[in-house]
Amino acid sequence: MVADCTTLWNDCLEVIRESVGEENYSTWFKPIVPVQVEGDVLTIQVPSQFFYEWLEDNYVPVLKKALQKVLGPNGRLEYSVIVDSGNTNTPPVTVHYPNGMGSRRASGNGLDSEYSPFTYKALNPQTVNSRLNPNYTFDNFVEGDCNRLARSAGLAVAKKPGVTSFNPLMLYGGVGVGKTHLVQAIGNEIRNSMPDKIVLYVDQNDFTTQFLNALQNHKLQDFQNFYLQVDLLILDDVQFLAGREKTQEMFFHIFNQLHQSGKQVIMTSDCPPRDMKGFQERLLSRFKWGLTADLQEPDFETKLAIIHRKMQADGITIPTEVAEYLAYSVDTNLRDMEGVLNSLIFHATLLKKEIDLDLAKEVLKNIIKEIQADVSVDFIQKTVSEYFKVDLEAMKGKVKKREIVIPRQVAMYFCKRYTQLTLALIGENFGGRDHSTVIHALESVEDMMKTDANFKSSVEELGKKLKLRMN
Ligand code: ADP
Ligand code: MG
Repeated sequence: MVADCTTLWNDCLEVIRESVGEENYSTWFKPIVPVQVEGDVLTIQVPSQFFYEWLEDNYVPVLKKALQKVLGPNGRLEYSVIVDSGNTNTPPVTVHYPNGMGSRRASGNGLDSEYSPFTYKALNPQTVNSRLNPNYTFDNFVEGDCNRLARSAGLAVAKKPGVTSFNPLMLYGGVGVGKTHLVQAIGNEIRNSMPDKIVLYVDQNDFTTQFLNALQNHKLQDFQNFYLQVDLLILDDVQFLAGREKTQEMFFHIFNQLHQSGKQVIMTSDCPPRDMKGFQERLLSRFKWGLTADLQEPDFETKLAIIHRKMQADGITIPTEVAEYLAYSVDTNLRDMEGVLNSLIFHATLLKKEIDLDLAKEVLKNIIKEIQADVSVDFIQKTVSEYFKVDLEAMKGKVKKREIVIPRQVAMYFCKRYTQLTLALIGENFGGRDHSTVIHALESVEDMMKTDANFKSSVEELGKKLKLRMN
């Protein structure tokens, strides 16, 4: 009997090998052991639940073809899945899936309740490297209108990971709005208050690299065993998985199993799931299962509080006028603010200089130059003219038509915000106008932003486009 099923399976393998390529063959089919054949049904043993799911999700047509060729038109497959608890005292057991080949999909959303959750005990929560930075905490995360929802959702998750309906928790927002800080704060909080929980923070780069390594070295089993032991999985900047089909596939499986076993998943992204491109629909729909919350750019008061908090943490008091000056002037993002503050701290502690407005201005001048080094007037003019679909030369020139004048004023406004040019030099770049024209332009743009919401959002959108270039 055993010989029979081995021969039959070898025949199947020949068909499979032709269709799937050498690498997939050795990863997914070599480890399979044929167990028995009864009538039209061949039973194969696969090394894990994940393995079984992967086969069912990716190789049903190939398996069908092979089975039908070897066993006839009614040929079917049964799986015997080894479930290893990771505990050497408990030998692996097998679970049978009688309706193989596509049944997993047919029976619903891929989270079929008959699957038992798997617990692997090999990782030690005390010694596992969570990749958390202990400096990111809730205590030093300043609350503001810009992040209130995300922060309270984060706190709720930190108190009861996996139990709230915020699973997954998906936080999104632009560069430097505090996504990484917040998700790390959640991780740190859980690690401190629930030391038996395994917490893991990974950015997409860690995840992708580990996955590709595992794939190349035929260690996928270890890879997923590792991830399935985690109680809180934080995946930062998930947008970078766009277009990476296999990595997404793997994440999809890990996500499903964690979610189904009541484990918490937290993700961050630079945009809401509905705007994410290059993702499988089924993965995007998972992202929306729990709570999606955005973090916005901090307002003036929040920036001010962040500045004070950070300086206090380093034992430095900063005069209010300096803090206000910085909160007004650093309008790119909080990461740049961090650079400016670090430089001030350096001056204050090592060079023993007093932090005053002059020092702040000097530091800012140097740093802002770096930040903005590659945003040129040309780039702003080109981006603005393309955005408003007006002729670039006309915009830079003297044409007085309203549809040209407004884009021109907007371009001047961004030149003031994003370059070091004086008003006079900005005027030079727009057909030799003088500085009072530039001031007038800046005022008009600000007025229009106050009264016209559409205009305001256009300007903000443009601002984002330009900032993207700066980061
Ligand atoms: P993102 O991941 O959204 O790009 P980060 O979390 O890396 O942003 O934040 C950039 C910097 O700003 C970090 O140093 C972070 O500590 C700080 N930061 C952002 N938001 C806050 C906040 N609300 N309170 C305190 N610091 C903040
Ligand atoms: Mg980040």
